[in-house]
Amino acid sequence: MAYLTLKGINKIYPNGFHAVHDFNLEIEKGEFIVFVGSSGCGKSTTLRMIAGLEEISKGELLINGEYANDKGPREREIAMVFQSYALYPQMSVYDNLAFGLQLQGVDEDVIDAKVKKTAKILGLTDYLDRMPRALSGGQRQRVAVGRAIIRKVGVFLMDEPLSNLDAKQRVTMRAEIAQIHRETGATTIYVTHDQVEAMTLADRIVIMKAGYIQQVGTPYELYYEPANLFVAGFIGEPPMNFIRSKVTDGCIDIAGKSYDISANLGTHKAEYEGKEVYFGFRPEAITLGAQPDAYVLNAQVELTEMLGDNTNVYVNIGNVNAILKVNPHDAPAVDSEISFSIPVSSTYLFDAETENVIPQQMRIAAQS
Ligand code: ADP
Repeated sequence: MAYLTLKGINKIYPNGFHAVHDFNLEIEKGEFIVFVGSSGCGKSTTLRMIAGLEEISKGELLINGEYANDKGPREREIAMVFQSYALYPQMSVYDNLAFGLQLQGVDEDVIDAKVKKTAKILGLTDYLDRMPRALSGGQRQRVAVGRAIIRKVGVFLMDEPLSNLDAKQRVTMRAEIAQIHRETGATTIYVTHDQVEAMTLADRIVIMKAGYIQQVGTPYELYYEPANLFVAGFIGEPPMNFIRSKVTDGCIDIAGKSYDISANLGTHKAEYEGKEVYFGFRPEAITLGAQPDAYVLNAQVELTEMLGDNTNVYVNIGNVNAILKVNPHDAPAVDSEISFSIPVSSTYLFDAETENVIPQQMRIAAQS
């Protein structure tokens, strides 16, 4: 049985705004789930409904199999870490960690042991006597995480916990959060707009847009098997390249060349005849030069960005812009004409109308 079940959850705010639509998800004990999507897509609203901080307008929330819609935040056995660390400024790190347990009337000896153990997990042992103002942003964030994990709860909820840290601290803290999850095995729901955080931390990602779930899957599934154009464009940096075309006699035209995709469409061939589609490929899926069993395209190089481990090459393919990722040693010169190959197995097709992926029966196409 799932530890958390969200069945047809909706949120309609008092002003009538429908922020979350029919959210369905089952979360297993110990899973690390990440809600990702652009600002305003309903991630925090969903998290706050799970926490009991926001009323559920419609639908059912089950925690450990029990109907929880009417339970108060404290009855839900949930701990939440917010964007702002919400530490008590006048209390030492030790007291910040101990406070929740003291309120529950836990024995001082037990509290002391728990504070020390939590401080050890988070590398805060040397800072227990410090006040929050004498800590770095990363250390404060660790105290905030510590306050959540010191209590034995069923679920940890984290709302953009790293957003107040600088880039370097974020990377360090991200690894620490992954480590804490491994050590505690706690069911965690983590909200972020950052796809890298989502990809690196999640067992499963829930990707949202305008209040609707777009896809639920492992980072691998979202990257390699995106359900629609939005997911394909959201996950991946630089994003997937798209070229719009129309299926005519089982072929699509890409930059002036016709490619037979009838084998890819398989049994869907008749259904897509005459329809507009997007042809998609990831920047790193290409190789420079002409290869067999591939789409071979000619392009004009407009700009290159050397990033160290790779170079992003901005190209123009017959009036469509695309980004290619290449080894810096092979980077072509700006203004040069190049050809590059996309293996047929690394291409995607999306229905331009529904924006859903077109299941490709066989990813083999012939150039005509
Ligand atoms: P996210 O966490 O993905 O950035 P939120 O869940 O905070 O998004 O917000 C989702 C949408 O609901 C946004 O359009 C936001 O403006 C709206 N919203 C949030 N809180 C309220 C509220 N109290 N009343 C009306 N609309 C709200």
